[in-house]
Amino acid sequence: SDARTVTVLGATGSIGDSTMDLLRGARDRYQVEALTANSNVEALARLAKEFGVRFAAIADPARLGELKDALAGTNIECGAGESAIIEAAARPADWVMAAVSGAAGLKPALAAVDRGAAVALANKECLVCAGDFFMQRAAKAGACILPADSEHNALFQALSSGNREELVRVIITASGGPFRTWAPADIEQATLEQALKHPNWSMGQKITIDSASMMNKGLEVIEASYLFALSADEIDVLVHPQSIIHGMVEFSDRSVVAQLGAPDMRIPIAHCLGWPDRIVGPSARLDLAKIGQLTFEAPDFERFPGLRLAYEALRTGRGATTVFNAANEVAVAAFIAGKIKFGSIARLVEATINDWIRAGNLAPLSSADDAISVDHNARNRAASLLPQIAL
Ligand code: NDP
Ligand code: MG
Repeated sequence: SDARTVTVLGATGSIGDSTMDLLRGARDRYQVEALTANSNVEALARLAKEFGVRFAAIADPARLGELKDALAGTNIECGAGESAIIEAAARPADWVMAAVSGAAGLKPALAAVDRGAAVALANKECLVCAGDFFMQRAAKAGACILPADSEHNALFQALSSGNREELVRVIITASGGPFRTWAPADIEQATLEQALKHPNWSMGQKITIDSASMMNKGLEVIEASYLFALSADEIDVLVHPQSIIHGMVEFSDRSVVAQLGAPDMRIPIAHCLGWPDRIVGPSARLDLAKIGQLTFEAPDFERFPGLRLAYEALRTGRGATTVFNAANEVAVAAFIAGKIKFGSIARLVEATINDWIRAGNLAPLSSADDAISVDHNARNRAASLLPQIAL
């Protein structure tokens, strides 16, 4: 058949859900090769059966028995553990959605990249962690990286209207999150429940907290730098509370080209799925007359220090963005566990980076494997600083 084969890494998450929804609407055009999850056996098995996949993988090794039981009577193969997630990515599929949350998604994404697949990249942490090496591996294998993050997908679309030499800068927008108008003292004490109330987007827990701290926008500045080979000076952030314009590109003639769309991740994912063609996206259309106005503000680097730290890490280089991401993952997990205050997320990230630099650990990364070991060491460093920050 001429159906395209696709694999979804992180199929049970928020991006996974949007991706499966689009695939459901075009069953005749796509054959699903493999699906993966971390621990949600029930949702994974349900999707695997619905789509008649060949392989289902669960990261938690303790859940293999449950997964086997849930798939009994089908001819769906299954596996467990990190190696099974990597196997899912390595199996032949033309197109892979990389939507695991966090740097845990790096090795699986690289397995898809190394065999030259088209990789729709939602998992920004893996780029921030591995830096240029991720893109180098892709170039070497002939893999096409399709940015699924809405802002980067917007840039990817807008960039095609000019040449690299004519590009002046890119602008990524930010909703500003639930604390956009909050006073510093209130942000400092914000609860988990408050941080999880994003005004425009419905997303996984980690990225929702990153959006509240604007660490997400910081990760996205770094992501844009590696994806499109841009310096920190060429990337601007603009707060745009309606989340309708996702990204803009300015050329030398001062034309600014923007991409617009409702805040619905199915739109950028549909672009990645259809690329280089266009497929049918969600049914609701953008109604600007109803929205009425689009507004803009400069970002506040003082109330949202995560954004400042991201630019600093990008300018520092030599593994600093890897440390930035690792420390933020540790900090977010500590905040969810009630171990630190919301305001301490950025504090732990800053302390970890400073400590890393003071210890003389900054060194140019020489490979993606190097990045994985820096990630590991930086997590340990952040965890050891946690008790000080927790007070
Ligand atoms: P979710 O938390 O909703 O989903 C994460 C997915 O990854 C789930 O399928 C989860 O399985 C799986 N997973 C989590 N940890 C591991 C692990 N250690 N090993 C293997 N699988 C794992 O996240 P989102 O869908 O919101 O985000 C996914 C990625 O996309 C993130 O990097 C995020 O930054 C990025 N992104 C998300 C956007 C959004 O709108 N949600 C927008 C732009 C980017 P299980 O269900 O079993 O826990
Ligand atoms: Mg985004």
